[in-house]
Amino acid sequence: MRPTGKLHLGHLTGALENWVAMQGEYQNYHLIADYHALTTNPDTTNIYENSIDMLIDWLAAGLDPEKSPMFRQSKIKEHTELHLIFSMLITAARLERNPTLKEQIRDLAMDNVVYGHLGYPVLQAADILLYKGDVVPVGEDQLPHIEITREIARRFNSQYSVVFPEPEGKITKFARLPGLDGKRMSKSVGNTILLSDTPEAIIKKLRTAVTDPQKVRKGDPGRPDICLVFAYHNKFNHSEVPEIREGCESGKLGCVDCKMNCAKRIIEALAPNREKRAYYEAHMDEVKNILENGEQRARTIAEQTMTEVHEAMKLG
Ligand code: AMP
Repeated sequence: MRPTGKLHLGHLTGALENWVAMQGEYQNYHLIADYHALTTNPDTTNIYENSIDMLIDWLAAGLDPEKSPMFRQSKIKEHTELHLIFSMLITAARLERNPTLKEQIRDLAMDNVVYGHLGYPVLQAADILLYKGDVVPVGEDQLPHIEITREIARRFNSQYSVVFPEPEGKITKFARLPGLDGKRMSKSVGNTILLSDTPEAIIKKLRTAVTDPQKVRKGDPGRPDICLVFAYHNKFNHSEVPEIREGCESGKLGCVDCKMNCAKRIIEALAPNREKRAYYEAHMDEVKNILENGEQRARTIAEQTMTEVHEAMKLG
């Protein structure tokens, strides 16, 4: 994940929850992709604070630093070296066809793309393959990047010798959570509910959520399948979904009541998260040690992989 600020519900449902669920079953590596954050904004004024905030969000969600190293991309030099090697194994035309890039250009109304942004999936391939990742738990927008990673791994293995696995993406049921305006939840769009939002902030944000435009007042029948609040109920209030659907469609349930019930469920779901966050915010030394320890562990693996890469390429 890129350290672009505090994490939101989309990060949780699309990726973070999967990471927590997988940590007993797999050896996980969690990357704070600080170089990737520069692809859309070169300003590094808050990069350290943002990285720490994100790490706290991860720990609050239940990631276990003993099991899974957590580290900054910029602190493991091998990422940039492998990126350079991989950039020779993919054409510019292939990267220009990347649908996630096209979506970002549209959503952020970008009139120009820097060279590093075009190459984002190549750096991401290095991030994954340096640790020989074979499963990559991501949101839906990232699947095209995993496909590029597979192509690069195949190309390297056939050009030199077999070093890398061909990783698979692993998505959750909520791999594209809508934001408060109905578009994909995203910090850059400004339609988020943050994992660190207070209960009051969550209630206030839910009040402004866009619902079915045809349902103007209580009594009007609504269309839950196009309503983002219903999508949140599906995720955070699963047991009440049949009666909410019925209430919405018949008009008996008004949007205000429906939203407040939804806010309550989201607040409940985030309660354990809030407690852990408070602990880590009061123990910043522990947080910094987790990062240092993660960086040491990641560096050892990254160095081993690069030795294999150099041998395969006869650069040894
Ligand atoms: P990013 O902030 O772009 O670095 O995203 C980090 C991870 O969160 C990626 O795996 C994304 O696919 C996932 N993600 C971000 N926003 C959403 C969303 N609205 N719904 C589901 N997954 C998301």
